[in-house]
Amino acid sequence: MAYSFQFRRYRLPLRAPLRTAHGAWTEREGILLRLQDATGRAGYGEIAPLPWFGTETLPAAEEICRRLGASAADEVLDAVPARFGCVRFAVAEARRQTAKLATPARLPVATLLPAGREALAALPGKLEAGYLSFKWKVAVGAVDDELGIFDDLLAALPAYARLRLDANGGWDRRQAAKWLARCAERPVEFVEQPVQPGDEAALLGLAEDYPVTLALDESVTGLASAQHWQGLGWRGVFVIKPALAGPLDELASWAATTKADLVVSSAIETALGRSAILRAVLTRPLTQRALGFGVGDIFGDRRWDGPFLGPVLDASWINAIKPEDMWTALN
Ligand code: MG
Repeated sequence: MAYSFQFRRYRLPLRAPLRTAHGAWTEREGILLRLQDATGRAGYGEIAPLPWFGTETLPAAEEICRRLGASAADEVLDAVPARFGCVRFAVAEARRQTAKLATPARLPVATLLPAGREALAALPGKLEAGYLSFKWKVAVGAVDDELGIFDDLLAALPAYARLRLDANGGWDRRQAAKWLARCAERPVEFVEQPVQPGDEAALLGLAEDYPVTLALDESVTGLASAQHWQGLGWRGVFVIKPALAGPLDELASWAATTKADLVVSSAIETALGRSAILRAVLTRPLTQRALGFGVGDIFGDRRWDGPFLGPVLDASWINAIKPEDMWTALN
């Protein structure tokens, strides 16, 4: 099959800068692509790289798109190299036809609390909205300050709620050990990327030494790195951003075969890429855990954010997304 192929760049300011251990993030750049088959049926995909996370860069992804040309055959699309995980994700989704969901299902969504003491002010509103799962970025401030806020947060959390901590690799091993000791017997679902991704010995050692579940995020950009960690005996959680990890079918079959414990998470893509991922989580055996898509409105623009995604995802959110409208908006 040969498709007509087009792509368009986007650059969208974030409604509010995202603060992480990597600094402040103020805008999102990426590419939407469109494939149309010989019968006129169109499919759309989103390329949303995070180079500091180990993906291809946006210029490199754009260069691949340019080289695909105005018409691309299956063999050419299949030949996009594995290191272009974001391009492969987008191409695979565009090729798959956008069939409506036949069987509705539901999954909880974890919501992001702001870093630092602002988390305490944000919590009551999020509880009111019905969230059960909360994520809080740590390693943004000093360890002892954040441990104090952590105690206050747990005191404000009802018994049914669970907290995820995400250090983005920002602790050294001693700081991580102090934190993980404090997490024992607390309602902490997991601690994400306590130390930098390359320090395999520290990550495996901390997972062994402390009872709290650990999750790998920056350590697992794509499927190959997740498989590497499985080979090392990792038994914790894998946070996977499917938009960075190649075709969803490959991810789903790996998760089903190995029973890997996944959290499926946003890479700050638009609603186009997000709807492809959320369709997959409702139709394939990917995850039972709350979805890492509770980041709120990213662009402050319904066209790019899609409908507000609340504490529970069901098929109605996905069916409300119209990729062709987003495509047209870039013209
Ligand atoms: Mg993370």
